Amino acid sequence: MPESSSTHEFKAEIRQLLDILVHSLYTNREIFLRELTSNASDALEKVRFETGRGTEVADSDIPLEIRISTDKEAKTLTIADTGVGMTKDEIMQNIGSIAHSGSAEFLRQAQQDGKALDNLIGRFGVGFYSVYMVADKVHLTTKSYLPGQPAMAWDSDGRGSYDLAEVEDRPRGATITVYLKEDMAAEFTDSERIKAIIKRHSNFVSFPIFVDGERVNTVPALWREPKFNIKPEQYEEFYKFLTLDTEGPLRTLHVSVDAPVQFQALLFTPAHSHDLLFMNKDEWGPDLYVRRVLIERQAKELLPQYLSFISGVVDTEDLPLNISRETLQDNILLRKIATTLAKHVLTDLKKMAADAPEDYEKFWREHGKTFKLGYGDYANRDAVAELVRFNASSCDDANGLVSLEEYVGRMPVSQKDVYYCFVQSRAAAELNPHLEIFREKGVEVLYLYEPVDEFLMDALGSFKDKKLTAAEHADIEALKSLESKVEETKKPEPLEDGERQELDKLLADIKSILGDKIQEARLSSRLRQSPACLVNPDGQMTSSMDKIMRVISKDASVPTKVMELNPDHPLVRNLVKIHAQNPEDPFVRQAVEQLYESSLLLEGYLTDPHALVGRIQDLLTKAGEWRLQAEAAKK
Ligand code: ADP
Ligand code: MG
Repeated sequence: MPESSSTHEFKAEIRQLLDILVHSLYTNREIFLRELTSNASDALEKVRFETGRGTEVADSDIPLEIRISTDKEAKTLTIADTGVGMTKDEIMQNIGSIAHSGSAEFLRQAQQDGKALDNLIGRFGVGFYSVYMVADKVHLTTKSYLPGQPAMAWDSDGRGSYDLAEVEDRPRGATITVYLKEDMAAEFTDSERIKAIIKRHSNFVSFPIFVDGERVNTVPALWREPKFNIKPEQYEEFYKFLTLDTEGPLRTLHVSVDAPVQFQALLFTPAHSHDLLFMNKDEWGPDLYVRRVLIERQAKELLPQYLSFISGVVDTEDLPLNISRETLQDNILLRKIATTLAKHVLTDLKKMAADAPEDYEKFWREHGKTFKLGYGDYANRDAVAELVRFNASSCDDANGLVSLEEYVGRMPVSQKDVYYCFVQSRAAAELNPHLEIFREKGVEVLYLYEPVDEFLMDALGSFKDKKLTAAEHADIEALKSLESKVEETKKPEPLEDGERQELDKLLADIKSILGDKIQEARLSSRLRQSPACLVNPDGQMTSSMDKIMRVISKDASVPTKVMELNPDHPLVRNLVKIHAQNPEDPFVRQAVEQLYESSLLLEGYLTDPHALVGRIQDLLTKAGEWRLQAEAAKK
């Protein structure tokens, strides 16, 4: 070894990763070439970027390109680029450690789950190591674009350590020689095979790629081509190249805009949400190009977070090439592009909803959760409102989806508001006491299952002049005046004056039994099947929003509510009679507490069920005794 040479241990996480790689099964080893080519392309993009902004670059006269060569005898494959290269420190930084912490762990999990690592590896910032799927050892020489840096060599068999050495000067860039494993050598020194792999995975690399001297890729920047020249397969191929997705996109949007700013955009909505794959949820957005020069990958300045499922490319002539990435956020032109882009995306989603409803449904199921964050986009409030979907009482099951447009379209004239209710599940919705009157009157209710829905409804406020109203805040008198849609269940005789007075006394006693737990006890007109329910005092936020706020402020207390009683329910009628006979009867207290806690349970506030369960057991015991007594009396 030359004197300047040194041996370094890989970081533990890299050793873990290499161990995973050695012990995995592969169906698609060829992707190592895609990864090495993509690194070369990235390195070349950086040179183009630096040159564009006027940085002085070493060897500024050599062409930007990738050259791949095979050597059957030596059993090697070499990938050389004229990109930015690496300094000694950068080598140790970039290929001696893993950028995203947790990548190795995630891959190990994927391996245990029997997933094909070949398709995942490039997404985790560990693509370089995929070379060890086919290599016994790797020799890399590189020289940085920064003037005055020495050329370096890096060598490793991918086990525990690597050697670093200063070497004889070479031009700017990186050259990676792959010493192929015995059983891989024939395949990956076959230049026809290599060309086919490059065509399949790296066709859209925007620098010339040569294989054994022959230019392989020919495709220009697809987004700059006129739409009518592009075949659907090309879009799909480009999408796969860009995202490493194995499946085609659900939707493709290709626009060329001239005013108020000039740009071209090629955007894709994936068929599946990649939530799980994103190590960092904070990274999204299309890649930003200025006149074909890559300025920033995943420029989140280009799209709001609620459209973060979209990937693609945006290319503009209007920004200067020497724009710094740090100031992108404050750039007025860029903000104009972003505003225009969001409008185009929303318009296209509307088009999809109208022209391809099945696709839209797929879109909603995969990305709806993210899209709902659009409640914060006031400028596009109307478009967001048109695009959101909900499950509703009118649907056959929990999978059904309804738009606000559809809801409003079938509202009877006598109905003024759009009603929604936050529920745990569809089954819970169908038993929810607050919705009994809605069921009776056949009034459609939107079911909200996720906390974000609550914010969404709050932010939207109304749709086409119809107020969005929580079912628990509905004007019950207005609902009562609507025609019944179900056959009226035979109602008990109305209360006589005397009974009415007794009922009022009971209500007063309920308040004294429950004390501070409730604000008041009153009669209900919203209940049909249930004896009682808890409602919010007038003008307060909905219970679901209240719950969210309590979670945020870590408030575990139970809110004070109003208890409503259904005067037509047999349980309540009996209770009135028992109370009238003897207000001190212990049964009254037991029944009142039971009604209160049952309602609390339904509202999702009951944290300790012990008292409730104990009381039920006690009441059942008594009920059994009463029943036996009654039967004995009959004889
Ligand atoms: P990623 O490309 O996602 O960052 P990789 O494991 O593929 O992860 O590469 C790790 C890093 O090594 C790159 O980010 C880059 O800094 C450096 N690198 C790899 N190949 C080259 C190359 N040909 N030229 C310059 N730098 C490179
Ligand atoms: Mg890479």
